[in-house]
Parts: sequence; structure tokens; C-alpha cells
Amino acid sequence: MVLRPDMGTKVDPRGVFLLNYGGVSSSLKPAEPKGIMPKTSATNQALKKYSEYLSRNGLKSTVQRDIIINEFLRVKGHLSVDELHSRLKLSHSSIGLATVYRTLKILSDAGLAHERRFQDGYTRYEYTGPGDVHHDHIVCVSCGLVEEFENPEIEELQKKEAERHRFKMLDHKFEIYGICKECQDNAE
Ligand SMILES: [Zn+2]
Ligand SMILES: [Zn+2]
Repeated sequence: MVLRPDMGTKVDPRGVFLLNYGGVSSSLKPAEPKGIMPKTSATNQALKKYSEYLSRNGLKSTVQRDIIINEFLRVKGHLSVDELHSRLKLSHSSIGLATVYRTLKILSDAGLAHERRFQDGYTRYEYTGPGDVHHDHIVCVSCGLVEEFENPEIEELQKKEAERHRFKMLDHKFEIYGICKECQDNAE
């Protein structure tokens, strides 16, 4: 597995993604022990928002949901239901796919996760927390790696383009599709 300088503590989505095809990924490490979620204020705010959402909607927090949310907040990537489920299965085999799906739906409804649909057909969820800024995506159509970028020049150009059409821009989506470096190297 190639460690990218910008990966930081993020998990390489590639390793997890392979599981979608039933492949065995050597880069997928067993989930780390639970309860180590960094207690950043953003995480705390997110958990507070989540529990407020639960009580507003008459939902109860359950142990399984808490485990799922813990992992989702810890990984902070662009995860499909399958990917998150595969990660959890290693340490919590009793958690079913449907529970993962429902929990991500709750997070999405609570405004804490954003649904992303890229051209490869997978719906991925990404954490959206307080203070998160806009970013765009570059997607490898071969292995499913999703990376984020933020380019002020591109942002500015899009704003200008909207103005040129006399539009008030509300939102935009900018996605690049291609083959990542590792997939290019592997194809050689
Ligand atoms: Zn790739
Ligand atoms: Zn993203």
C-alpha cells in the first residue's frame, strides 16, 4: 500500500473498497480497539447533535448504533454501507448490513453525513461536521479511491461562470474521474 503524504490518519479507501468485490485485501487492518475516538470538540459536537436528533425523533441510542457511529467518525473517509460494514465485521460480527444502512441514514437525516454518488455507482457517506468547508473530489474509476481537494482558483472560476450566466450560485459539484497513480503503475 502506498502511503500518500496527505493521508494523515485517514484510511486508504482502496483497501476497503476491494472487499466490495469479495477480494481479500492485505492492506485492510483489523479495526482498532473501540473507545479511542479522539475527543476533539468537533466530534463531541457531532455526538451531541446526534443525540439531540435521536431524542427529537423519539429514537433510542443503541450499543450497535454507537459502535457504527464511532467507527464512521473515526475513519472520516468516503464510505459505502458495504465498506463500513466490512470494517465493523472484523471486530463486531453481530452487526448486520441493514443496521449499518439505517444508522448512516439517521446520520444523514441528522445532517451529520453527506450522501455522495459518484459515477462508479456506489453511494458513499462522508462525515459533515460543524466547521467543515466545501471540497471537491477526484475519483479513481479503477479502484474507487476518492481523494479530496480544494482549489481557490477553480472555486473562483465557477463563481465567475455562474455570474456570466447571471446566476446566483447556490451550490456546485466538481468531480474529476481518472486512474490513480497506483492503478497506472499496476497496469504496467
Ligand atoms: Zn486506483
Ligand atoms: Zn469529500
